[in-house]
Amino acid sequence: MIKHCPNCQAEIEEAFEMCWNCCYSFTEERVIETGEARPGVRNINCLRCNIPLVFSGNFKFHEGVRTGVLGNLFELFVNRESFDLYICPKCGKVEFFTPLI
Ligand SMILES: [Zn+2]
Ligand SMILES: [Zn+2]
Repeated sequence: MIKHCPNCQAEIEEAFEMCWNCCYSFTEERVIETGEARPGVRNINCLRCNIPLVFSGNFKFHEGVRTGVLGNLFELFVNRESFDLYICPKCGKVEFFTPLI
């Protein structure tokens, strides 16, 4: 599914909370200024595409998730409780980070 950014009309995957082009936040319904990123949200560029990764939410997991959809990926984080998920809107690369806060 594709939605359009109301600010710059860029095409954005339905799952993303923020426009990769102008930093319009769908959750806050305004453009987030550079340097004003939400607390705990990193500014990370995709190494391949050199565009910012989009913060796509925080994954919390509980008993049983490790054997779920994403399978062995979570085995790497066995001692962690939650992760920030970032996605490159261009190449689809997904990165997990432990939360800053
Ligand atoms: Zn936009
Ligand atoms: Zn990329």
